[in-house]
Amino acid sequence: MKNILITGAAGFLGSHLCDKFINQGFHVIAMDNLITGDLKNIEHLFKLENFEFYHHDVSKFVHVSGELDYILHFASPASPIDYLKIPIQTLKVGSLGTHNLLGLAKEKKARILIASTSEIYGDPLVHPQSEDYYGNVNTIGPRGVYDEAKRFQESITMAYNRFHGLETRIVRIFNTYGPRMRLNDGRVIPAFMGQALRGEDLTVFGDGSQTRSFCYVDDQVDGIYRLLMSDYSLPINIGNPHEISIKDFAEEIIKLTNSNQKIIYKDLPQDDPMQRQPNISLAKKILGWEPKVGREEGMQKTFEYFSSLSDEELRKRDHKDFTSHIKK
Ligand code: UDP
Repeated sequence: MKNILITGAAGFLGSHLCDKFINQGFHVIAMDNLITGDLKNIEHLFKLENFEFYHHDVSKFVHVSGELDYILHFASPASPIDYLKIPIQTLKVGSLGTHNLLGLAKEKKARILIASTSEIYGDPLVHPQSEDYYGNVNTIGPRGVYDEAKRFQESITMAYNRFHGLETRIVRIFNTYGPRMRLNDGRVIPAFMGQALRGEDLTVFGDGSQTRSFCYVDDQVDGIYRLLMSDYSLPINIGNPHEISIKDFAEEIIKLTNSNQKIIYKDLPQDDPMQRQPNISLAKKILGWEPKVGREEGMQKTFEYFSSLSDEELRKRDHKDFTSHIKK
């Protein structure tokens, strides 16, 4: 049985990756510091013999006993609200955390895949974004802590690949959605879903003409799995190229949820990218991958998930209080 370490395992993507690798017959070693993750996302796996969980912050030295075949580094705050709230932890997990995991991969002779992001393209001047675009990032803006940590992460990963001959993979993840997204993480889908289910108006930032392209989580996980198993070590975009403006998306959600809510407009956050769409030609060519789940089907499943939350969960307004259990 192959051993895989998954960091950020209690998060949205991390927990779906745990499911995938358990289903593929792996022994999964899950790790999370639970700052933004939630054990509820993986509690169904606790009874399994081939699953173990460690409560640990990977920005500190990471020890795993025994053999390791693969590492997936998915630990990081990943929503603009989260990294505004915990900017230093965001920088540390992308830099120190990645360094620790690359060191562990080298020691164990494991293959490591790191989670990069479309944010490395910043507010892109090239559209759609392909892997050879170098991006337009404001290093000192509020999103810089995430964007630059992820850019550093790509650099140090390639350095370990070239200097130490480590087997590395880099996925650039575009907006992904589905069950287990955290209701109060500030991202647009949980925000709109929560508002629709509570009977509130939907808050569109700016005039809503900014675009995003949303990928269903099962497609994203399939792309990541294929990349890990491939022999391609340069960065690769995984996302759904079907682009929509945020205003049109709000209208779609009002229809889907059968709510009579209105749209209200709020200020656009600083450095909010105006457009985003992945060019996925490389993923198609190298991995034979393309998304299969359309927005209608994916959003329906996502709506079912949010509808199943308790009233108490739906009404919890405050963003998770991170500050009580972290050291700056
Ligand atoms: N957004 C919005 N209303 C909200 C939350 C987000 O209009 O209540 C917008 C946000 O300004 C951005 C887009 O939706 O243009 C996607 O935001 P999200 O935070 O989900 O992720 P991003 O792609 O910006 O990292």
